[in-house]
Amino acid sequence: MYRKSLVIIAWMGVSYVGLVYFSTQWWQAAICGVSLALAAAGMSFNIPHDASHGSYSTNPKLNRAFAFAFDMMGASSYIWHWKHNVLHHGFTNIPGVDDDINLAGIGRMAPTQKRYAFHRFQHYYLWVLYGLITVKWQLADDYICLIRARIGSASIPRPKGAEIVLFVLGKLAWLTLFLVLPLTQHSIGVVIAGYLAVNIMLGTTVAVVFQMAHTVEEADFVPPPPGAPEERIKNEWAAHQVETTVNFAQNSALWTWYLGGLNYQIEHHLFPSVSHIHYPDLAPIVEKTCLEHGVSYSKHPTFRSAIASHFRWLREMSRPPEIASA
Ligand SMILES: [Zn+2]
Repeated sequence: MYRKSLVIIAWMGVSYVGLVYFSTQWWQAAICGVSLALAAAGMSFNIPHDASHGSYSTNPKLNRAFAFAFDMMGASSYIWHWKHNVLHHGFTNIPGVDDDINLAGIGRMAPTQKRYAFHRFQHYYLWVLYGLITVKWQLADDYICLIRARIGSASIPRPKGAEIVLFVLGKLAWLTLFLVLPLTQHSIGVVIAGYLAVNIMLGTTVAVVFQMAHTVEEADFVPPPPGAPEERIKNEWAAHQVETTVNFAQNSALWTWYLGGLNYQIEHHLFPSVSHIHYPDLAPIVEKTCLEHGVSYSKHPTFRSAIASHFRWLREMSRPPEIASA
């Protein structure tokens, strides 16, 4: 895990320095930009995601320090904790609570979400909008969540003491890395174009990888809770986690390395505090146990088949319910 972290940090550092300080031709900037976006996505999957779950190290302070990598990339690790660890992991695929399937009406991800006429094209336009997800986090969501003390319909506590200091320091670090330092080398137009290009690639990669585990045809969705959501979950916790989650590309060493275990999301949802490097060993045990207990364990053989399933699910949700069921 530490060796892997060093490789990813070095990859990101070289890409960043190459893009900001050494790219003089458009094609050099393009190569470094693509490399930086992929490195930043790889960093998010492998280091702060684990650290935020407390599975990077046995030392909580080290976990908090590595979770700060999210802040340096512009997304508050404090807000991430509530959005991901609490609301997404605790209430997976429950519309109205799990913020990962809440697209504010722009997209319909679950059968019980309201359908609007423009959703009929969502399996095309959402792929474009996925590219804006990190820009939205960086420029709007973190501040809106902080001011409203809410994520979607769920209330969250506002950060206090050291956490508010870390929030501000994170935003300053991100501004320094993605605006101040690049502006010492390039014009404002070039910096904004570079920022948008890198973030569109980063946002698309991050959004697609997370959607492939939960918004696919095999994943279960639980009806929306009008009252207390925790009382409406039909399954007990572990079965709910397994049936709302789908693995993919388990036999690919490359995806397993790069995605930080997010292709083993079932094991991740069952054991979020276990380091992701153990998921390939846990998966056969979990699958066998699910089979023994009649719990549906779903997996896609490849990355491509999971993407195709996400496309088909978006298309299914784009149709009026009576047509979809027919
Ligand atoms: Zn997670």
